[in-house]
Amino acid sequence: MCAITAGQRGRSVLVIEKSNKVGKKILMSGGGRCNFTNLYVEPDRFLSANPHFCKSALSRYTQWDFVALVEKHGIAYYDKGQGQLFCDESAKDIVAMLLAECEEAGVQIRTECEVKALKVEASSLESDQSDNGVLIDTNDGTFQAQSLVIATGGLSIPTLGGSGYGYEVAEQFGLKKLPLKPALVPFTFTDGFKQISEKLSGLSVEARVSSAGKSFLEPVLFTHRGLSGPAVLQLSSYWRDGMIVEMDLLPTQDAAELLKGFKEASPKGLLRTQLAYHLPKHLVAELEILWWPKYADTALAEIPDKVLQQVAENLNGWHLKPAGTEGYRTAEVTLGGVCTDGLSSKTMESKTQPGLYFIGEVVDVTGHLGGFNFQWAWASGYVAGQVV
Ligand SMILES: Cc1cc2nc3c(=O)[nH]c(=O)nc-3n(C[C@H](O)[C@H](O)[C@H](O)COP(=O)(O)OP(=O)(O)OC[C@H]3O[C@@H](n4cnc5c(N)ncnc54)[C@H](O)[C@@H]3O)c2cc1C
Repeated sequence: MCAITAGQRGRSVLVIEKSNKVGKKILMSGGGRCNFTNLYVEPDRFLSANPHFCKSALSRYTQWDFVALVEKHGIAYYDKGQGQLFCDESAKDIVAMLLAECEEAGVQIRTECEVKALKVEASSLESDQSDNGVLIDTNDGTFQAQSLVIATGGLSIPTLGGSGYGYEVAEQFGLKKLPLKPALVPFTFTDGFKQISEKLSGLSVEARVSSAGKSFLEPVLFTHRGLSGPAVLQLSSYWRDGMIVEMDLLPTQDAAELLKGFKEASPKGLLRTQLAYHLPKHLVAELEILWWPKYADTALAEIPDKVLQQVAENLNGWHLKPAGTEGYRTAEVTLGGVCTDGLSSKTMESKTQPGLYFIGEVVDVTGHLGGFNFQWAWASGYVAGQVV
């Protein structure tokens, strides 16, 4: 996006890509259909040490701008819910669109070209100077440029090209790097919950998960090693080691009232039978072993209110303690990164090194699940492309 914007301004642009093709993450994204943006982009859908930083770029290149580009290229798309826009056909359409725009803007692309080192004269890398300011050493020769835009992404899924090189560059030029952490990533467990999740692996329920003062009500997926699904992935961006996660399995109901109702309406019935009208049977079977094993075959009328009350509390707030996350191997994004204090929010240019820019995921701006990370990549790329 940055290359396209700069190319359209008549700049001579070279994209240096270490992989054998560009846009690998786009191709893999959204299950192969690329959730390319979201209809409801708001600054509060992004995490950053400076929550205001993302506002300028997001307001100058909006989701509507990207949608217009997608429509210009005749790419069919749909809203999967909650404003998440996906390609009807394939993520390949988005990469093809960007490549077509690059070609039209005269952008050159060099793949299998990895940046190894950068050399710059103390103050010669300036966007408004015509002399060549930076020497870019790669495995495929040395290049010179007046402006250099770092768009190396994060550490997630290393096989897709993510590298820590952008963070090294930031440090080389005196920019602060905030601690990195895998985000939008499943939780793993090593306690008794691991056996439960293993047994229920593949099962998805609509639940509210909460931790660190944040809550997400979306599907939760049980996996072989713990929990995943949109609600859990969203929460993982806020969760810190050692924190408890509270899972509300009946997010739209007061479980105490519900169980009281069971007892009144079906005094001879079993708790598992009644609960199975509201939750998957396999899940109820596991909850029974965990929370009311002694009363598994006891008629509801005979189960003490105290026991039902405790079960209700657990249903509305099951306390779970993840051992950790699946890490960068499966994380969709990297939290943290190049500290925004050292960057201009209007242009993404380094405040300490004129002519050096950082865009996309390498910057300490991380979106929620739902197309926000791509929108940040497009928007930050666009604003840098306007000035490089
Ligand atoms: C599996 C998966 C699915 C995702 N799905 C979505 C989704 O549907 N919607 C959404 O909004 N976000 C999604 N994301 C997140 C999104 O892909 C990223 O936030 C986004 O791609 C970041 O863009 P970027 O340009 O900053 O970095 P990247 O897309 O990671 O691109 C960085 C590029 O830099 C190259 N590179 C790195 N180091 C060097 C070097 N030294 N020299 C040369 N080249 C180098 C890499 O090879 C790579 O091609 C997903 C992520 C993953 C992993």
